Amino acid sequence: MAIQYTPVSAIPKIVANMKRSFLTHRTQSLEFRKEQRKASSAIFLSVRALLRAVNENEDAMVEAIRTDLNRHKDNEIPTIKKAIQGFIDNLEDLTKQTNVAGFHEKDECSIRLSPLGTVLIIGAWNFPMMLNIEPMAGAIAAGNNVVLKPSEVSAHSAQLLTQMIERYMDPQVVQVVNGAVEETSALLKERFDHIFYTGGTEVGRIVMVAAAKNLTPVTLELGGKCPVIVTEHTDIAKAAQAIAGIKTLNCGQVCLTVDYVLCPKHLRESLIQGCIATWKHMFTEDAGSCATYPKIINARQHARLEKLLATVKQQNTVVFGGRSDASQRFIEPTIVTGVTLKDEIMQDEIFGPILPIVDCDNLQDAIDIINQNEHPLALYVFSDDKAEIEKVIRETRSGGVTVNQIATHCYNHNLPFGGVGNSGIGNYHGKFSIDTFSHKRAVMIRSQAHL
Ligand code: NAD
Repeated sequence: MAIQYTPVSAIPKIVANMKRSFLTHRTQSLEFRKEQRKASSAIFLSVRALLRAVNENEDAMVEAIRTDLNRHKDNEIPTIKKAIQGFIDNLEDLTKQTNVAGFHEKDECSIRLSPLGTVLIIGAWNFPMMLNIEPMAGAIAAGNNVVLKPSEVSAHSAQLLTQMIERYMDPQVVQVVNGAVEETSALLKERFDHIFYTGGTEVGRIVMVAAAKNLTPVTLELGGKCPVIVTEHTDIAKAAQAIAGIKTLNCGQVCLTVDYVLCPKHLRESLIQGCIATWKHMFTEDAGSCATYPKIINARQHARLEKLLATVKQQNTVVFGGRSDASQRFIEPTIVTGVTLKDEIMQDEIFGPILPIVDCDNLQDAIDIINQNEHPLALYVFSDDKAEIEKVIRETRSGGVTVNQIATHCYNHNLPFGGVGNSGIGNYHGKFSIDTFSHKRAVMIRSQAHL
């Protein structure tokens, strides 16, 4: 399915309209941002309208995600709802000014969070609802206008999102631009007050270069190779279950998925058997004939993974899986051993259901390997030993850490979500979204009586 792209010639006008609309200052009012205030055109504008859009289109959203990704179990919508509800419940608190002491005791000094203006949000395809709606909710809650560019790769989701926004949201507050490289490049020529991008690191660089020309601040939510350390002090069956589960969620097309495992040699076999047992339980003996096994998003991504599999078969040992079928966009859950850091599989983010296991002699060895790579978006440890856990946290760097689970830190909106170094710049979720989409304005008011 192809979505209708926004004509490139229309893009400057769309952006100019949003900027003009921001200058009406309507979005400054919390009531306006939060409540269902019906505009004359019967379009609700506000965070609550966004929640209503999600609530009333849940089935259609699940279906669009299923069509795009063959993901049968939805895990995006409850998270989205919780995130929006969090803004509704806490908006006063999240946006209130902080009063601070002045030079003079009669000075009124405060830090006020002011909206940035018109924000460009560029979403990725792998969680096609969440990666658009959550940043958008944060930007609106902070009082901004939004131009949203969903990924063209998840076309059904982009189409539905466009319809939802057109139907429920005030066009003076949110506009959707659909398209691919040409349209996104046209958007990036415009001057925004902030750009929030989710996607791969290479395009992240393109976004940042374009933003630099206008000194536009950016948030870059990127990817990377997220490692998991399995230590001797762990229940290996539970670790295997968690690792195998995340590696096939979305067919491994998850920014927070485990990219590779660092494991002591003598635990390797138990880990492999645990992963295989988990996959057989989830997808029967043959994932290829299991209707609920997810697909690779498109032919281009499938071809990339097939090429990687071919190299892996030459350089490493495939101990499980290894099959693929381009006509079904199928890649079998695959485990690879005999892996060194120089191998192809260790160069870039895998973004598919191929799991390399790297042998390590001890915990220090595992930490040293992690520190030879770029800082990942997340790092995981399976261990029951507090000292081991603290050592890993202290001696490595990553966007976030989850211990004895995978990716769960991302679902707690009291925690910031974002990368560090090559895995990203900035963060969002809950209060951190408000910070990202606000300017901390220093205000000092001295009364005339004290001049
Ligand atoms: P993608 O292909 O959908 O690209 C992301 C966005 O960039 C899209 O809107 C696309 O239209 C636009 N784009 C693509 N090429 C462009 C170009 N040359 N110029 C301007 N814009 C362009 O998504 P992707 O990059 O394949 O996404 C997968 C990557 O995203 C992985 O690396 C993954 O780890 C990362 N990711 C990160 C997060 C996070 O929250 N940190 C979440 C999801 C995905």
